[in-house]
Amino acid sequence: MVGLLEEKKKVYLKTYGCQMNVYDSDRIIEQLAQKGFEATPREFDADLIVLNTCHIREKAAEKVYSELGKYSNLKSKNPKLKIGVAGCVAQAEGNEIIKRQPLVDFVVGPQTYHTIPTLLEKLTNGQKVVDIEFSTQEKFENLKLTEGKEYKPSQFLTVQEGCDKFCSFCVVPYTRGVEVSRPLSEILSEAKTLTEYGAIEITLLGQNVNAYNGLDDSKKRRDLSYLIHKLSEIDGLKRIRFVTSHPVDMTDSLIQTFRSNEKLMPYLHLPIQSGSDEILKKMNRRHNVSDYLNIIKKVREARPDIAVSGDFIVGFPGESDRDFERTLEVCHNVGYASAFSFKYSPRPGTTAFEKKEVPEYIKKERLTVLQDVIRQHQSSFQKNLVGKTLPVLVEKKGRIEGQVIGKSPYLQPVFFSAASALIGKIVDINITRSESNSLSGNFCE
Ligand code: SF4
Repeated sequence: MVGLLEEKKKVYLKTYGCQMNVYDSDRIIEQLAQKGFEATPREFDADLIVLNTCHIREKAAEKVYSELGKYSNLKSKNPKLKIGVAGCVAQAEGNEIIKRQPLVDFVVGPQTYHTIPTLLEKLTNGQKVVDIEFSTQEKFENLKLTEGKEYKPSQFLTVQEGCDKFCSFCVVPYTRGVEVSRPLSEILSEAKTLTEYGAIEITLLGQNVNAYNGLDDSKKRRDLSYLIHKLSEIDGLKRIRFVTSHPVDMTDSLIQTFRSNEKLMPYLHLPIQSGSDEILKKMNRRHNVSDYLNIIKKVREARPDIAVSGDFIVGFPGESDRDFERTLEVCHNVGYASAFSFKYSPRPGTTAFEKKEVPEYIKKERLTVLQDVIRQHQSSFQKNLVGKTLPVLVEKKGRIEGQVIGKSPYLQPVFFSAASALIGKIVDINITRSESNSLSGNFCE
């Protein structure tokens, strides 16, 4: 316990990667706050530095080592400074991190970051700790939200972790482990606390969120659709979203939830990765293009205005010009409201790693063409919203005085002029303009 006059210790936490890491970082900060730490945005102020890492991008581990190198000055000025590495690079590299960068004091994986507050007590006399066990459930049992803390209107809530799909390009099954779903009651209780203290919208997270298969109190397995219906019974909770889904787990009951549950927002992020069946097979995606398009058709029947988002990888080993054209065809066919696209880059340990690569210049060209097509569809989706009145969840102040930023049901940021007292409320906004990644409009008083 920190005395009233005692200065709080400071933690600087740098987060890389996806929303799941953002959720994990929030929980790390919260656990440390319960031990008397406060977050600082300045590393040179910190008593503790934690890097919460991601292994998805190219040369992820090298980027972490280079970031760590920057801290050697800080450590020589303040020998009491503790430095830790968490997340997927920590899981993949383990002891190697301390061998290569001895200024690191501890290494914890995505399933053991809940141990940080207690392991800090063990770091005496230069002792180092590496804890990269897979103990997903134990982690969640140890993560307690802070009663009375003010939460922002839009919150993430991890309901499922890990992946059993083993796409041939992806490290997630190795860094996050097999699919594990949290028990229903634990999720409902976390969602109730979040809404009691400020959340209006909750985004359910999972590497394969639609594979959610958690136990209820009678030990019966329940799917994501059931979980969404139970969550929607919470009064203060107005909006529910979920990411990221895999096509093979897109059940009819989940699709129908877009029709039957008005709290479920009309937004679906459903990666396809390639528009070629040949390439999907090489990627070990376990679905083909027609399965995917059929899901999109059914989702649109259930919720005609839905915003569909996707992920693409271009230049996967063996991708021909014709394969790439098929990707563009899918893109036109679906008319994505937004999509993420990347050049393929090999990840050590994955089955695609040794395969002969498409030349870099071709990957670059294909990415430029694909991103142009994605932009066209995104722009036309957004322009269709101009002139409409949308319910917007007001999230924060804008950079300009008197401006606030909210979120549309379709996930675009919406800029408009209004009092910041509206933060945390859902208000009607008349959309007047579409920018490349956002909308703006007028508050309908
Ligand atoms: S479904 Fe494929 S891409 Fe997604 S996390 Fe699992 S292995 Fe990775």
